[in-house]
Amino acid sequence: MKKADPNPKANRHILMITYAVAALFAGLVLYFAFFLQIKSENVINNSYNARLDSFSDRVVRGEILSSDGRVLAQTNVDENGGETRYYPYDAMFSHVVGYSTKGKTGLEALGNFYLLTSHVNLAEQVINELSSVKNLGDNVITTLDVDLQKAAYDALGSRKGAVVAMEPDTGKILAMVSKPDYNPNTLAADWDALVAGDNSEGQLLNRAAQGLYPPGSTFKIVTALEYIRENPENFRDYRFDCSGFFHYEDYTIKCYHETAHGSQDFVRAFANSCNGAFANLALTLDLGRLKTTADQLLFDTPLPIAIPYSQSAYALTPDGDTWQILQTSIGQGQTQMTPIHGGMITAAIAN
Ligand SMILES: [Zn+2]
Repeated sequence: MKKADPNPKANRHILMITYAVAALFAGLVLYFAFFLQIKSENVINNSYNARLDSFSDRVVRGEILSSDGRVLAQTNVDENGGETRYYPYDAMFSHVVGYSTKGKTGLEALGNFYLLTSHVNLAEQVINELSSVKNLGDNVITTLDVDLQKAAYDALGSRKGAVVAMEPDTGKILAMVSKPDYNPNTLAADWDALVAGDNSEGQLLNRAAQGLYPPGSTFKIVTALEYIRENPENFRDYRFDCSGFFHYEDYTIKCYHETAHGSQDFVRAFANSCNGAFANLALTLDLGRLKTTADQLLFDTPLPIAIPYSQSAYALTPDGDTWQILQTSIGQGQTQMTPIHGGMITAAIAN
């Protein structure tokens, strides 16, 4: 005979509580998984977030590597557990790799989540956890080419400026140099001088992405594209006879070193970067359409890149005067562009 349940109502309550606890637990597990997979990236990557420190308490920051596996940044741990972030190439990668003391910049900021996330196997993580040993963070493998970076770095020498080398069909950044630079290994010691009010060198500025400059002859790509768009059938018929000077109304445009390029067609004028040929050709352009082409090439528009950058500014309005037209067509005047944007435009045309 089945024994009668003494208190069916209480049992039902216990069952409901069990379900509720199970549901809560499932919710917690799901949230935890969600946090680990998705949310933590945002939380850790926010360089102002206090959670950052708690992650670096348990993980030794991973390495940043070149495309062929050479170390660009690593954390050395001494016998007392003291950690030093070390940059084997000193200043050569200073802006693109960035730093992780005094805040974070460059790839140190961009890759922060990965550098502080460990994929050491779970058993090892538990053992490390129990013996208070930190897990090793993941490495970030970049597209940077050490030899190309060195070539660009040496070529720029002691001049102020930037070099960006990009693979057009993938958009991979192969080299990014900015000068003047700083040595990330001595950043803490040099910090006060770097940020001093009377320091006008701007060593911390990544000129490759944040420096705005007159594009110069690189802008002839934009002028040429617009000319082709307005004259798709006969742009190759364009002719110009270059004497080294182009006179129009009261204005004179000189070619580089006043070189007389002689008889130029469209392709030759582009290859020789003939200022006279381009200034003359620009006088025939529809300024409204030229502005549209500049906008399509992301002037005055946010760039699809993840590092801090300045927005390039195209300055020739449809009611621009003759001098502005002549100047803009050869990349002078008020129009300003960042080197990385110039690289992106060139890559777009190359594609
Ligand atoms: Zn010329």
